[in-house]
Amino acid sequence: MEFELIEILRSRCDVARADVRVGIGDDAAVLAPPAGHALVAATDTLIEHVHFPIATRPEDLGWKSLAVNLSDLAAMGASPAWAMLALTLPSADREFVERFADGFAALAAQHHVALIGGDTTKGPLAVTVSVIGFVPPGRAMLRSGAHPGDLVFVTGTVGDAAAGLRFPFEGLFQNEATAEACDALRARLDRPTPRIAAGQVLRGRASACIDVSDGLVADVGHLAKKSGVGIELNAPSLPASPALLQAFEAAERLVLQASGGDDYELAFTLPRAQEAAVMRDLAKTGSGATRIGRVVEGSGVKLLDANGAEIALAKRGWNHFP
Ligand code: ADP
Ligand code: MG
Repeated sequence: MEFELIEILRSRCDVARADVRVGIGDDAAVLAPPAGHALVAATDTLIEHVHFPIATRPEDLGWKSLAVNLSDLAAMGASPAWAMLALTLPSADREFVERFADGFAALAAQHHVALIGGDTTKGPLAVTVSVIGFVPPGRAMLRSGAHPGDLVFVTGTVGDAAAGLRFPFEGLFQNEATAEACDALRARLDRPTPRIAAGQVLRGRASACIDVSDGLVADVGHLAKKSGVGIELNAPSLPASPALLQAFEAAERLVLQASGGDDYELAFTLPRAQEAAVMRDLAKTGSGATRIGRVVEGSGVKLLDANGAEIALAKRGWNHFP
């Protein structure tokens, strides 16, 4: 049965790449990285209840488990190539694996990522994906490198995924517009878009970059710490989607934008002189960016209101071991 499940995964995720010399089916994969490139590797685990609601559809879980990993490669400015999948299932549920594989494969095909191996075991539902991509040597984008005077940006919009988590049930909505907004928010939670093309535009130009997985303020805080700088974020500038604007009042919206996780947008810093050219090139990738703050001397992240007064946040982001 285990081999039947592996075969379902193999046959549905059939991206062909010449650099995969031996893929699924032997004791290990054999890969031929392109000459003169550095490898960039990341791994992330999704656990039921912790990382996704129990009602998450298997195809969404397949998509998301790859998306969160590709997002880490995006934040490094890498081009993705290969993925591995360690799947732990409570039972040998063929239908679950088929649907999971379809969601995983849909995103893998978009980025031409080959599934090169993994492991299939029995236990409480857990999904671990690892990805490997390429970057020219010494050119990976890091969290360090932001300088006082740089500007801070974020791609897309923030807060949607956390908002999607607030509305797990249908039948709760007053009107059609709100119901549509809830669907859009939920879709952002279930099917995040890894900003691969944006990462490649930013590589070599952004002074620092991180993907927003734990919450904007928390993740920008990691960037500030690694760079040895402070960051001031301008709350009224944080970008909101039409759905978020429709479904939440300003105060609650700000909490979701500032500290909600799971958006998988890229937060990055740029020297001021680069702003215009980079914004132009990002717009061509289909994920524009918004200027949300600036890098200052010092440490930590401050969220400022329209008058420049600091806003206190009850929660800055997600932490597994608070
Ligand atoms: P081994 O016992 O040598 O670890 P397995 O039976 O676990 O071999 O796996 C057989 C082949 O199937 C290997 O190539 C492995 O990488 C691949 N594989 C197993 N599980 C998965 C999975 N969930 N996704 C992709 N490939 C898998
Ligand atoms: Mg094995």
